[in-house]
Amino acid sequence: MMRFLSKGTKAYGIFNLKCPKCHEGNQFPTPTFSFRKSFDMHDNCPHCGQNFMPEPGFYYGAMFLSYIFMAWFCIGFVAFVHWVLGLSTGVSFALLIGVCAIFFVYIFRFARSLWLNMNFKYDPEQSRSDL
Ligand SMILES: [Zn+2]
Repeated sequence: MMRFLSKGTKAYGIFNLKCPKCHEGNQFPTPTFSFRKSFDMHDNCPHCGQNFMPEPGFYYGAMFLSYIFMAWFCIGFVAFVHWVLGLSTGVSFALLIGVCAIFFVYIFRFARSLWLNMNFKYDPEQSRSDL
């Protein structure tokens, strides 16, 4: 596996939706693409107990991140499909809606994961399996 995605790096925690502190516990109880309980999140890390909701409104920051990310993604996607692949504007937007519907849950979770990982540091001590 690539170095930057190995355990202990920010990218590992963010992309795998793991607890930012131990990189062991999952942030979400269900798999992203199962589309069940998509927006449920653990209150605490199931492995090390890290609080995932340290204060009310903690995830407002994540919401802004996902807005910014989504806006650029949508612009880029439509521009690519329309100009590079040469499909009509209507088809481009229809495809965009389809792609957003599929990745909406992942982007929601990804933004929260990114936000958590920006606010908490990895602690190798916490990742031991004997906790
Ligand atoms: Zn943890």
